[in-house]
Amino acid sequence: MATLNTDTLLQRIEAKRDELIALTQDLVRIPTINPPGDAYEACARFLGERLQKRGFAVEYIRALGAPGDSDRYPRTNVVARYAGKGGASGGGECVHFNSHIDVVEVGSGWTMAPFGGEVKDGKIYGRGTCDMKGGLAASVIACETLIEMGFDLPGALEISGTVDEESGGFGGVGYLASLGYFSKPRVHHVIIPEPLGVDRICLGHRGVWWAEVETKGRIAHGSMPFLGDSAINHMSAFVHLLETQLVPRLAQRHTAEPVEPPGARVSTLNINSLHGGQVEQRYSTDEQGRPSGDLPAPVVAHSCRAVLDRRFIAEENLDAVKQEIIGMLQELKATRPGFDFGVRDIMSFVPTATPQDAPVVDATARAIARVLGREPSYISSPGTYDQKHIVRTGKLRDCIAYGPGILDLAHQPDEYVGIQALEDSAKVMALAAYKLAGPTP
Ligand SMILES: [Zn+2]
Repeated sequence: MATLNTDTLLQRIEAKRDELIALTQDLVRIPTINPPGDAYEACARFLGERLQKRGFAVEYIRALGAPGDSDRYPRTNVVARYAGKGGASGGGECVHFNSHIDVVEVGSGWTMAPFGGEVKDGKIYGRGTCDMKGGLAASVIACETLIEMGFDLPGALEISGTVDEESGGFGGVGYLASLGYFSKPRVHHVIIPEPLGVDRICLGHRGVWWAEVETKGRIAHGSMPFLGDSAINHMSAFVHLLETQLVPRLAQRHTAEPVEPPGARVSTLNINSLHGGQVEQRYSTDEQGRPSGDLPAPVVAHSCRAVLDRRFIAEENLDAVKQEIIGMLQELKATRPGFDFGVRDIMSFVPTATPQDAPVVDATARAIARVLGREPSYISSPGTYDQKHIVRTGKLRDCIAYGPGILDLAHQPDEYVGIQALEDSAKVMALAAYKLAGPTP
């Protein structure tokens, strides 16, 4: 079997610079805002129709019954597969490029059109350029170029556009993983083109536990609080303990994983939300300064709820993480009169790290050295992304995140992706895919 001239491969990708820009722009102009999950179907079809024309077998998989799925906002994913002569069964292996198609809301502070895809000073601007439609476009160009060069890969190439990553990925990669789309023997290696930087390989992420803690009280008239027992006061005692005892302790727990930014190389806690008493509303006054709208009734809060976002490091384990917080609540129950509580798990994922000598890491590292002339750096992510579903549900360990774009720009106003980085990453992806799905040397 003839081998591919990789110099020619890189030149061909360079010659497609305008096409790469245009594809990124086309994707950015489909406003796939999540929540609620706008235009998923349109974006999945756009991608699927393009890849079908280039010989991919395309499937659309709607995550029926997933959170947020409805006829108005269908959770439509697209998976495209191009099997070379050997197919995955003929001994060759499959490389899968997975990108999420959803973007976060626009927010304020933009000077460029959020869904315009405007090009200025070597950058493409718009919501999702960096996170992560630029990376998606680069993976498409990389795979299409390999195929156009007429090379019969012994393995297979796959590209997916999946939904809801920004809200946990349960209707996207999580759903597909439960159907076997991210497991052997179908897929062997996964690259997720998230915006980690063109010379960095992200091996995994810290763990996460989300839980709702509720403190309980006894309702009474707000003018006679001594007749009740305030759940808000109980919660504030708990929050005080978190702040003065737990958080300083977590800050002492350092990980050996190369988490970026370095501030996240410890355990952390955030209180994502806190609510006590009556249903929240914004009370207002009319032109005369009189109260308008519904007014609050005077009651002592009988319930207060906080959502905790505990991020933990590879050196900790989930049970101990939970027990540490539950132990503090039990301690309060034993020492503080009237204190009672409930804890509800919302979501948890353990830390994951692909070994540095895994095939997908090695292939991508060599490709980065070739294209950029420098060694890659290896990092880990403070937050989770879709790798968590691939590892846990798909049981596939050979997975990394690698893609163009500057992580800090994700979710910001005037988000952009640099065109040179876009092109370089497409070259890296093509070389890595060739090494993994191509003939064994
Ligand atoms: Zn992303």
